[in-house]
Amino acid sequence: MDLGLKGRTVVVTGASSGVGLAVAGLLRAEGAHVAACARDADRLRAALDPLPGPGRVFAAAADVRDPAAVEEFVTEAAGDLGGIDGIVANAGRSLMSRVLETTDDQWDEEVRLKLAGVLNPVRAALPWLRRSDAGAVVAVNAILARQPEPRLAATSAARAALLNLATTLSTELAPDGIRVNSVCLGLIDTGQWRRRYAESGSAQDFDTWAGALAADRGVALGRLGTADEVAFPIVSLLSPRSSYVTGATLDVGGGVARYV
Ligand code: NDP
Repeated sequence: MDLGLKGRTVVVTGASSGVGLAVAGLLRAEGAHVAACARDADRLRAALDPLPGPGRVFAAAADVRDPAAVEEFVTEAAGDLGGIDGIVANAGRSLMSRVLETTDDQWDEEVRLKLAGVLNPVRAALPWLRRSDAGAVVAVNAILARQPEPRLAATSAARAALLNLATTLSTELAPDGIRVNSVCLGLIDTGQWRRRYAESGSAQDFDTWAGALAADRGVALGRLGTADEVAFPIVSLLSPRSSYVTGATLDVGGGVARYV
């Protein structure tokens, strides 16, 4: 099936690793152009260079928390690639900390990263999204938004705020023909979990460690997901074939969610 993304341009934040890199790869393979950012420009270029596909890539360093840096990145990318049709607001991380262990600065930083990570790229890209006939934003979020994890207290709360924001944004941007949806991820095998495995000092190999983690968190499919497995659900929401889907939340968690 043709997703209708050929020749369109999509901003992907946090594209040097994990979910963002897999999304960038799928978009390129679909013939879309990718405007990619992360904080470490060298790592970003090294990650994107080998990706095959007809789509073009514009890559630059930008911290999504910095509105001026995001505006500069988005403006240059739109000039280079000829506009912007979509955003995958993916850049982020999580903070392993319980409520009472989390400092005020950490609370502020978690909320700021999660909200600014969507607001800054959307504000910067609005003129081009309004001109597109298929403007779409996907906010990469977490199942934690609706199923808080005590060991990720501030991240869970900030994720809930982002889910709320994305819903409001979907109504505010609908008159401009811009759709806004959220993809809530479960436990996905990316840099984040590889770093936690390394920090854990576990004597187990990664697969055994990750299998125990999946069991502990109650993942119905019994394993972590892969970045490639979440890239398609994200990209499908950018497709003009999803033209009546806005304000929606899609869970991609291998059955970890317990709510109905
Ligand atoms: P990775 O650590 O593999 O990749 C994170 C990417 O974001 C990197 O490219 C990183 O590059 C970039 N990044 C981080 N902070 C910033 C910033 N302030 N500005 C710009 N770029 C930034 O993580 P994942 O692929 O796992 O995570 C992608 C998203 O999915 C995140 O928002 C994460 O919270 C969310 N998520 C992930 C889950 C999982 O289990 N993996 C579960 C639920 C949600 P650099 O460091 O160079 O900036």
